[in-house]
Amino acid sequence: MQKKTVADIEVRGKRVLLRVDFNVPLDFYTGVISDDTRIRASLPTIGYLIGHKARVILCSHLGRPKGKIVEELRMFPIAKLLSSLIGLPVNTAHDCIGEEVQSKVETLKEGEMLFLENLRFHPEEEANDSHFAQELASLADIYVNDAFGTAHRTHASTVGVAKYLPAVAGFLMEKELEAMDNLLDDPERPFACTIGGAKVSDKIGLIQNMLKRVDILLIGGGMAATFLKAKGYEVGRSLIEEDKLNLAKQSLALAKEWRVSLLLPTDVAVAEEIGAEASTRIVPITNIPPSSYIVDIGPQSIKLFLGELGKCRTIMWNGPMGVYEISQFAQGTRALANCLSTLNATTVIGGGSTAEAVQEMGLTDKMTHVSTGGGASLRFLEGATLPGVQVLLDKAES
Ligand code: ADP
Ligand code: MG
Repeated sequence: MQKKTVADIEVRGKRVLLRVDFNVPLDFYTGVISDDTRIRASLPTIGYLIGHKARVILCSHLGRPKGKIVEELRMFPIAKLLSSLIGLPVNTAHDCIGEEVQSKVETLKEGEMLFLENLRFHPEEEANDSHFAQELASLADIYVNDAFGTAHRTHASTVGVAKYLPAVAGFLMEKELEAMDNLLDDPERPFACTIGGAKVSDKIGLIQNMLKRVDILLIGGGMAATFLKAKGYEVGRSLIEEDKLNLAKQSLALAKEWRVSLLLPTDVAVAEEIGAEASTRIVPITNIPPSSYIVDIGPQSIKLFLGELGKCRTIMWNGPMGVYEISQFAQGTRALANCLSTLNATTVIGGGSTAEAVQEMGLTDKMTHVSTGGGASLRFLEGATLPGVQVLLDKAES
């Protein structure tokens, strides 16, 4: 990786401001944390810093408090969970800047941790206010960013602080960037992308960037309807993005020109309504009833897609194949996840819903990499430079 990591600098005895993305799903009423993946994902960085006798000042956002104190969004339960996962005490503070925090930092000993309060209680965080960034930076000697999931945001704790402190990547940040870099730079071929999810408009940048790079592009999910429509099929009541029909046509034409095998479903599961009670019918794409919605890819399409993926050495998957939240519409998504988990290939999963589907099936460990940052990985694979990564020191810099 081009960026310096925490392993490239001396951290012993130093005060390290560690930005993590511990924006975990937290039940607003019960305070129960339903998924601790993001916390576990940063344990290597935290463990390294503790092991190397740094004084660790952790900070994160949680939820959307919109610049105000929201009692239910305090970091305390997160710090408590971290403490139980790492088996060490984690001190907390009532704010992320100010006198109380400063004095707590002063008493922090080597190998100890202090977890700051939710960064987004201050509107200055999301505004990337330079004074606020400076105050955060004044707590530490070094800044380490492990918050890949927030790296596409230009906030005080992801971008602003790097102006005032030497800034390096944590190990999660490094792992995420290496997995994504590998897809863009030199993937082992054949290389396939499977793209699904709700809307073409969310993923058109991804489709356009990946079209240039892949051998095979498989399209499923809700967005397949717009592509099917662009090819002249009737898609019933499925959501069509009229203003994206031309982009879909353009992508189909480019695929042909660049000899990319772009495949759409050949059959689909349809339902009269999208709800837990709905039943499905399998129909060929030539015969989608006007009264129905496409809710999943069909068995013939599953066979076709899995057959293609079986030939590949590298696979990127972003976006569920159907409305997977409803179990009778989850066949395509499940089949795909199962297939990728058994392949002898590099498998990289991006997208929040996709990662969630894989996690629910207990297959996360069977993939090469499941990204902790849906939005950030999408931006990266669209070809964008992530602001939170850009500000980190290059390996060559001193
Ligand atoms: P990710 O978070 O993995 O990037 P998206 O956010 O693009 O994925 O899309 C996820 C959503 O797409 C899910 O809520 C799922 O229900 C929806 N979806 C998938 N297929 C369909 C479909 N055929 N019709 C409507 N919604 C769909
Ligand atoms: Mg999503």
